Amino acid sequence: MTALPLPLSHIETLWIDPEVTNHPLADTVRKRFASEKIKIGIPPVPDGIQAVKRRLFVTRYRGRLVKPCPGSQGRICCGYQVINAMVHCPMDCHYCVLQTYLSVPALTLFVDEDRIREEIRERLDTNRSHFFRFGTGELADSLVHDALTGFSRRMVPFFAKTPNGILELKTKTAAVETLRDLDPKGRTVVSWSVNPPALIRAVEPGTVPLSQRIAAARRCQEMGYWIGLHFDPVVWFEGWEEAYRGVVADLARALDPNRVLWISVAGFRYTRAQKDLIRKRFKSTPLFLGESFRDEDGKFRYLQPLRVSMYQKLLGWLREWSPDLFIYYCMENRRVWEQTFHDPPKNTRELDERFNENIKRHLKHGG
Ligand code: SF4
Repeated sequence: MTALPLPLSHIETLWIDPEVTNHPLADTVRKRFASEKIKIGIPPVPDGIQAVKRRLFVTRYRGRLVKPCPGSQGRICCGYQVINAMVHCPMDCHYCVLQTYLSVPALTLFVDEDRIREEIRERLDTNRSHFFRFGTGELADSLVHDALTGFSRRMVPFFAKTPNGILELKTKTAAVETLRDLDPKGRTVVSWSVNPPALIRAVEPGTVPLSQRIAAARRCQEMGYWIGLHFDPVVWFEGWEEAYRGVVADLARALDPNRVLWISVAGFRYTRAQKDLIRKRFKSTPLFLGESFRDEDGKFRYLQPLRVSMYQKLLGWLREWSPDLFIYYCMENRRVWEQTFHDPPKNTRELDERFNENIKRHLKHGG
């Protein structure tokens, strides 16, 4: 039994659903835990989020496992497909939506890998001339469980064989060694959320520092993967300009911009319920220093002029790094796009089309 990597080493109990005890994934995971830590059954409702993060549950999922990202009402969204292979996360970012949004009793791994593949194939078959983007990082961190499950290592070769599928593995770990010695054939993007080092220390407990994320991204570029970067959430604080400019400079020093497939930018946003919970769990969080208002979709965001001015600066530094970077907003409105982009997409369909062109262009020049 080898030791578990850090965020998973806090797991106290492994629960295995009686229906899946003979499944190979349950077997693989079970081998990593001492027998006194393993229970067969359904975990009871836990006492708080910390308890959820200290137990792992292997089970099956009866609903659809691959679904379009629901996006946000009235926003230009990117047409992403979400793969629900696992749910929840052992790390503990203050702003994480999963803490309010999910009601699972444990970090949950679903064994239904064959069905995931089938559902992906179904989606790809609906339009063979269109590139569909899939990600496992919406309801969990894509790589944090990989040392246990090997899931991404199996998905990379699967996507490499698809004519029109792109897999995105989104993470705040540096756990990329499981991706070594595979040939992604231009069909996998490994991506990192990035923020200034001091903000990471203050609001992203359990994640790795920026320097380790960038070093892992560089290793992935060398291994033949595309890289994605997510400035999400962009947070306002005294000195934010210098701090974010420093992040772009660090990225520019280490990474080849021609192998960065996309970059998203999204200001900090939250619901009322999320704010109440964040305040309760992280009393001295620096997240709420910027002035916010309730937007049309019910989420609180920084005032529009502040968002526009922050985005203009950030986009400016990124364009200085490389004018050809493909940059998009996650869940922003048309007015913000129009004030910050010279030729903004009109709607979700147009943004999706631009992703398609961007992917084809990159594959032509070095997939
Ligand atoms: S790494 Fe992602 S999924 Fe995990 S706690 Fe942070 S925001 Fe949530």
